[in-house]
Amino acid sequence: MPATAEKVCLECGEKILGRTDKRFCSDACRNLYHYHANNAPINYVRNVVNALKRNRRVLSELNTGADGKTKVHRDRLLEKGYSFMYHTNTHRTKAGNNYVFCFEHGYLELGENWFMLVRRDEYLGRSGDLKKEEKA
Ligand SMILES: [Zn+2]
Repeated sequence: MPATAEKVCLECGEKILGRTDKRFCSDACRNLYHYHANNAPINYVRNVVNALKRNRRVLSELNTGADGKTKVHRDRLLEKGYSFMYHTNTHRTKAGNNYVFCFEHGYLELGENWFMLVRRDEYLGRSGDLKKEEKA
């Protein structure tokens, strides 16, 4: 490789002077790059997982109906810290209803800020969790 080959810092994009095998312009950029590469995604993933767990908890706390269904207002969900940004999966029925789930708990939007909370026990059954859950 010719010594004049232009390389840029992986962190800040500045031209790197000197040795052509260098990947960063400075120690500060190298440290910053490794910080971003290692820590930031971990924090982000943790935050999303926590949001999903909180959503699941909110749905399970509000879904007090004996038949596993409860109608709640959007304000009640927000009050408890529900985040509509995060869910684990959606389920569209043949009738065209779009259910949104956080793990085994979910809701169907009814319109005018009302939601029907539902629970899918078969999700637990498929994972072998149903017996545990019944004992608890
Ligand atoms: Zn740099």
